[in-house]
Amino acid sequence: MGRTIPESDAAEIFVRLAEAMPGRTANAKGPKGQPDAFRSCISCMLSAQSLDRNTAKAARALFDLAQTPEDVLELDDRDIAAAIKPCGLYNVKTRNIRKFCQALLAEHGGLVPSTRKGLLGLPGIGRKCADIVMSFTFGTDVIAVDTHVHRVCNRIGLTDAKTADVTAQQLEARAPKWALRDGHFWLIQFGKKVCTARAPKCESCPVSDLCLWYAERSAQ
Ligand code: SF4
Repeated sequence: MGRTIPESDAAEIFVRLAEAMPGRTANAKGPKGQPDAFRSCISCMLSAQSLDRNTAKAARALFDLAQTPEDVLELDDRDIAAAIKPCGLYNVKTRNIRKFCQALLAEHGGLVPSTRKGLLGLPGIGRKCADIVMSFTFGTDVIAVDTHVHRVCNRIGLTDAKTADVTAQQLEARAPKWALRDGHFWLIQFGKKVCTARAPKCESCPVSDLCLWYAERSAQ
């Protein structure tokens, strides 16, 4: 791994984020507030390159028509596409949803598997979706990497990765085990409130003395 902070500093980052940021709350819900693993997976698939509000609109419209894989497969592609249109890429997403439902029924009897291997074996489910569903729906200790987590980890030097999937792999190896349960929540809050995309608040940041990006900027 190239540009990363030492293991001991990585652990210290999580100690400080645990103190400074809210973790998982008792009412933390699955992806976009969906009540079960099937709808969480579909909602995750709809969220690709879509704003949260558009994903929610598309998910509501689809789940008004169908709540199970069997229900979805009874729909015509045009009906699925029309329902999910608000989240964009609706033709591709319609094809993926259909393939996902077919595989779920054929390989798992319609029940969403709870393991990463099982989830990744399903069409349309990538590492981020798998980890989000594992964490939120099945309560597995895993840090799901979204855009905020990816940005923060690579700025600080917790990881050195170009893609969110590689960030997730590196983070799993480098984050202390005790931080896996709530690390996702700490990093997301931190990315939204302190280490923001355009104007990070470095002067009031609780981990600035450990952050590679801050050290690099200060040296310029
Ligand atoms: S010092 Fe700045 S760049 Fe580094 S983690 Fe804090 S806010 Fe982000």
